[in-house]
Amino acid sequence: MNQRSLFIAILLLTLLLPITAHAAPIAPSISITITPDKLNPANAGYIYIGGVYPLNVKATLDDQPLNVFWSGDGYMALFAFDFDQPAGDHTIAVTADNPETGEHAEKTQIVTVQAYSYPLESVALPSKLIPLLDKDLNIHEVDHLNTIYAGRTNLGGWDWPFNFPVPGGIVTSRFGGDRTYNGGMWHAHHTGMDFRRSIGEPVYAAAAGRVAVAELFDVRGNLIIIDHGQGVFSQYAHLSEFDVQPGDWVARGQLIGLAGATGRTNGPHLHFEVIVNGITVDPLKLLALIPNFVPPREVNPSTISSGG
Ligand SMILES: [Zn+2]
Repeated sequence: MNQRSLFIAILLLTLLLPITAHAAPIAPSISITITPDKLNPANAGYIYIGGVYPLNVKATLDDQPLNVFWSGDGYMALFAFDFDQPAGDHTIAVTADNPETGEHAEKTQIVTVQAYSYPLESVALPSKLIPLLDKDLNIHEVDHLNTIYAGRTNLGGWDWPFNFPVPGGIVTSRFGGDRTYNGGMWHAHHTGMDFRRSIGEPVYAAAAGRVAVAELFDVRGNLIIIDHGQGVFSQYAHLSEFDVQPGDWVARGQLIGLAGATGRTNGPHLHFEVIVNGITVDPLKLLALIPNFVPPREVNPSTISSGG
């Protein structure tokens, strides 16, 4: 390129460059949302902090720090209470500081755990599954799961809100039922929600993450657990087939396996769980907090059709 053409090129570039607008500074705004302010035991809520990245955000539940993470368009933290949480008030405190503008925002809110009894449900299992009602076997499986849920990874991404693992699917059994199996041989809460699925029908990841588990469990059968980071996991049980392996990264909506009837179930279906901060929570109630949430279709929630 000679000097003349270089000059023309620079001239053209200068003329074509858009004029940079120097708009008046936008009024700073940090918004803090904490929802819900009343919830049942074994439920989760979320804190959302809207504002320009980066902010220094701190959130606590009863003075205990919560994991705060960037969600792609805001900061989030999830809080959860387990089945045994007595009714009472708890304090969530959030502070957000913008180190560049000096802007500061804070919010303190009481969240109330309400007294609530999950409905009693009675499940009958065929005699060949009775060994799976063994107390030690059940406790061992839950202990194993809890060690997985104790993991706290920062996977750097987040899909919020979650999808359901069976888009458009029909819910056959809600979360939380206080279940008695075969007249009292085993007694436990239903720690997930069930979707109607025939053997071989697809099951999809609720959100992006890394596959933590894809193996056969006694009670839950062929089980996939996806680690979404920040102490949030999703679990898919009774599968007939795995389409992912531990360590695989999956995208929201990706096929991960096929529904089945493995483990302690009296029929094919998908059992789906969401775990927040080590606590199994009601997925439906958590997703229902999202604006524009469309509830899934349900058969009579009091009807137990799956038993798993
Ligand atoms: Zn279930």
